[in-house]
Parts: sequence; structure tokens; C-alpha cells
Amino acid sequence: MALSTVTIDDLIASISVYHNDDDDLEFIRKAYQYASFLHKDQKRKSGEPYIVHPLSVAYILTTFARADMNTVCAALLHDTIEDTHCTSEDITLNFGEEVAMLVLGVTKIKGVVFSSREEGSLENQGKILNGMVSDIRIVLIKLADRLHNMRTLEYKTADRQKAIAQETLDFYVPIAYYLGSYQIKNELEDLCFKYVDPEKFIMIRNDLEEYIDNTKDEAFQIISKIKVILEENNIACRLTYRTKNIYGVYKRVREGLKVSEIHDLWAIQVIVKDIPTCYQVLGIIHGIYPPFNQMLKDLIARPKTTMYRSLHTSVFGNNGRLIQFQIRTEEMDDISLLGLPYYWDSPDVGMDEELHNKFQFFKSLVEANQHANSTKEFMEEAKNDIFTNMIYVFTPMGEVVELPEGSTPIDYAYKIHSDVGNKMEMAIVNASVASFDRRLKNNDIVKIITNDSIVGPREEYLGMCRTNLAKRKISEFLRKQEKEVK
Ligand code: MN
Repeated sequence: MALSTVTIDDLIASISVYHNDDDDLEFIRKAYQYASFLHKDQKRKSGEPYIVHPLSVAYILTTFARADMNTVCAALLHDTIEDTHCTSEDITLNFGEEVAMLVLGVTKIKGVVFSSREEGSLENQGKILNGMVSDIRIVLIKLADRLHNMRTLEYKTADRQKAIAQETLDFYVPIAYYLGSYQIKNELEDLCFKYVDPEKFIMIRNDLEEYIDNTKDEAFQIISKIKVILEENNIACRLTYRTKNIYGVYKRVREGLKVSEIHDLWAIQVIVKDIPTCYQVLGIIHGIYPPFNQMLKDLIARPKTTMYRSLHTSVFGNNGRLIQFQIRTEEMDDISLLGLPYYWDSPDVGMDEELHNKFQFFKSLVEANQHANSTKEFMEEAKNDIFTNMIYVFTPMGEVVELPEGSTPIDYAYKIHSDVGNKMEMAIVNASVASFDRRLKNNDIVKIITNDSIVGPREEYLGMCRTNLAKRKISEFLRKQEKEVK
């Protein structure tokens, strides 16, 4: 892969795009020289000098996450404490406390990679999630580290390849998804797929390539046509496109679709100056290509819980083949590429509490971390409530609530607030009274009626909910009540 030949000059050039400060760039060169010196006698399994690895990790972070200077330095130094005589004090002395804290954070969650079903792996993953709660940059470095290791996985034994790929798919891919780091997620998925199920990987890849080959002329024609029409309407825009990643196609095929039936296999991105223009462009496109109504999504008015925003519409192209348009502003496009890291260098937004709450994944993770009595308990809650298939339901005011599949009104109530769960009298789902153990579905509108005279949840509720969160809160309440009675 071309990226393994990345040099320090490539790295500097990549940062300069978004952060051009001579002193900071010099600081990064210093970190590179320091890391090169420390790793000078080590080699990667590929035979390359070891420094290629931290350099690549730093480079991934600049291109996929626009990482700040301290994160880039920490990425360059991320294996020094573990693999060389360097200590965190050395790093503090040379590069300051923040860099040292990041390197130490990454070092703590290192160690042997276990298969995702082994106990040791759970422990390690718990540390990663802890790191996530304390400083999201630690996890970003860990993700980039894993991505580079996946890119160079061919040098490991077949057994290790499968175990590492499976763990990556089960654990790192969901993290990348929740962070909104789609570029990292998509590449990781394809790399994992290749090792986890090589036969299916090759089959889907070939089908996809063939389909792209057969349809690209048509797609490019549509792009040029839209470009001309938008210009005629005096709409300044930037047009790009992507095709779905191999694993993404596989997931649809697994659901029973043919490659040619996937509505967003080709996605054309139309990037315009502001939100009203997005809707204007949508109108223009629908005037030319008839929309496939079920696939119209207004993710501007209603962003995904990963903060992704865009208008999505799949339309019938020239030969009746479906093609997706994604219409958004430059800012939304940045968010779509970078995810959460976008907010690092966005001074007007900042990583404040409100933002944490918007990323419901974080909120759940922080909560689970605060209340769990052990790493094991924390990881069990994380695996059961967060690292699983999710559904999205609405509050009566139209807010989206993210819940694991199989959740009931009890889970919903506790996700909103303990008091709502404890004082729950009645559940209304889509305007009808619903039993407390009803399994919620995507797009249900859920309303909980509370009553102050309710003493608290009943013991049988424990068997009527799905999330560890609700179970934990109900048990807490019952224990407290028991004490009071005594
Ligand atoms: Mn590493």
C-alpha cells in the first residue's frame, strides 16, 4: 500500500493544510526525530524500519481526523513507552504534559491482542472505553493504530489475522461508526472482511467491480447533467461521488438484495453554500429524476445520532437504476468526513457537555462508566446496550432516542431519566396505550405518562426490559426500598 511509504515531509504537508504554524510544525519534526532515534534498532514484521508505523498512524490522523499538534506528536511517540527505554517523564520533559498523557493513555490500553471472545480482550476493551471517556483523542490514536496494523496484517500468521480482524470488526468498527469517522470505519470494514471471510470478500468485490464498471458511464453522465443544470440556476456547487464499500454491499446482499438493487451503491454528493440551497437542489433533482419516495431522508432537520447531516434521496436514473444524491453544506460535508473530531478545531462549537449529550453513544458510555462497579460490569453494559444493533424512536417532541434492538417502553423511560422510569404509569406508542414489555420498532413515537403517586418500579419490570441501564436502575431502586422497609 502506497501509504506505507509516507515520509515526515508528507506528514508536515498534510498538517499544513489545516494548521500552518512554523513553531508547531518544527515541534512535530522534533517528535519524529525523537521517535526515530528511540525505535532505530527495531523493525516491523514487514521488514520496514519501525518508525514507518508511528509515522503512518500520525498521517492517518491528519487526513482522517485533522488531528491537533499534540495528538500528532503523541501518535509519533505512541509506541515509545511500551517498546523502548523511554518513560512518560522523558516525554513530559521534551513535549509537555498533554502529549505525555496521551501517550500514556494509549500505552495503557496496549498489550496483547486477544480474540474478542476471550476474557483478556474484554479487560483491554474496557480500558479503551475508559480512555474514550477521559480523552477522546486517546481512542482516535488507538483507532488509527489499529487501521495501520490492519493495513499491514498480511505479515501476521493466519490465526492471528482472523482473531485481530474479528476483534476489529466487533469492537473498533462500532467505535469508528459512533464517532462518525466514516473513512476509518469503511476502510477497517473492508480490511476485516478480507480476513474474516476471504471467499465472500472476493465474490462481493468482483460483483461490485463489475457493477461499477457497467454503470459508471451512466453515473458520470448524471453528474455532468446535474452540474450543468445547477449552473443554469446560478447555484454554486461542488460535486463528488463515492461507491459503497465492499462490506457495506455485503451487508445488503446478506439481507437478500442483489447488487443492482442497492439504492445507494452510487452516491453523488452535491455540496452547496447554505441550507435553503440544499432544499432548492433537492427540488431541482426531483424535477429531473423521479424520486424513490421511501428513500427520501431529511437528515438536515433530523441529524443522525452521530451528528451526520445531509439530504438523502435515491432517484431513478436513466435506465431506471437507482442512484443516491446526498445534498449538504461544506460544514456538513466536513462533519461527514471527520465525525466527532470535526469539533476539535471548530472554536464556536467546542467539545462541551451539550455536544457530548448529542452523541448519545457518549452519554450512555459515560453513564455506564460512572455506575459500573467493575470493568467487567462496565463492559457488559457497553456490549449489551451500545455495541449492538440499534433502533431509533422519537419523543413526542420529535427528538430521536437511540436504543438497542428489542428495547421496551421501560428501557426508553430510563434512557430519558431515572425519574421517568421510576414514576412511569402508562406508555403510549404511536398514540395507543402499549404494554410495558412491547418491543419498540424504528420510528415509533413513544410517550411516557408519569404519576407522582407511583412508588417505584415493580420487580417484574426486570424481566420486561432489555438494557442493562434499565435493569441496573430498577435494581438500585428495589434495593434502596428494601433498606427503607427494614
Ligand atoms: Mn502501534
